Amino acid sequence: MIKNYENSLREIIKEYNIKPKKKLGQNFLHDKNIISSIINNVNVKDEDIIEIGPGPGILTENILENKARSLLAIEKDDSFEVNLKKIKNKYKDNFIYLIHDVIDFDFNKLTKKEYKIVSNLPYNISVPFILKMIKIRKVISWKDMILMVQKEVAERITANIGTKNYGRLSIMVNLNNDVKKLLNVKPSSFIPKPKVDSTVIKISPKNKNLKINEEVFEKIVKICFSQRRKKIKNNLDQLNTNTSLLLELSNIDPNIRAENINIEGFLRISKNYEKLTKENL
Ligand code: SAM
Repeated sequence: MIKNYENSLREIIKEYNIKPKKKLGQNFLHDKNIISSIINNVNVKDEDIIEIGPGPGILTENILENKARSLLAIEKDDSFEVNLKKIKNKYKDNFIYLIHDVIDFDFNKLTKKEYKIVSNLPYNISVPFILKMIKIRKVISWKDMILMVQKEVAERITANIGTKNYGRLSIMVNLNNDVKKLLNVKPSSFIPKPKVDSTVIKISPKNKNLKINEEVFEKIVKICFSQRRKKIKNNLDQLNTNTSLLLELSNIDPNIRAENINIEGFLRISKNYEKLTKENL
């Protein structure tokens, strides 16, 4: 059992001669309370877990010690292969690691029914990773994602309508998921210390049958926020459709901005846009 994670992490860094790479977001977590809190929030026992970016493997070993049924770890940096092999030797039956970029990883290959996803995410991929996982829910089913992200990203994801952080990311994530902020994490919990604060969030699918074309919905949201300060009508004029009719059918005031439209409003615009396109209006 690992007791003092800061010393353990320093030993691992020394033993494997790890030189943290900034471009891969390598800020390693050593804070025992934060690690325990992540493990408790995931509730790993008897679950099939995917961990993104195991790195030196402290969180990884904790997941295994707490009796996950299986753990698949996906790590881009092959210099961690030596320590991941060591973990594999200890947990032969239920641990697998892959050296792969998670953004290109084809989740179709996975065989288990339902996963929980855990990660102290590298800052540079947190938004594309979350958007990818939300889109592939038809390919693999995941129950919960417990993710450490930059505080500012957590604020964008959980932003309320009408605030400066409310935008495409808030809408895409909240469309069919519940999101909770679990805890804030200071730079001193990592080696090396990042320049920004972090937040652990939990994203849980709502599993509503939305009956929408998600590609069209995403296109509409993207266009509506393409110039935040513009009126919704002016942004939507980029579409080849009758914007006034579209907004009238959707019961949206053409003079308001995208940041004042809730998810239901975007759903109405999206459905009516599909209808008008089919009718060639
Ligand atoms: N899990 C470790 C911890 O909590 O201390 C390391 C977390 S560190 C913030 C991010 C990890 O993700 C690093 O190990 C990094 O090499 C890895 N990583 C970066 N980009 C990745 C990518 N595209 N796919 C998979 N892993 C990636």
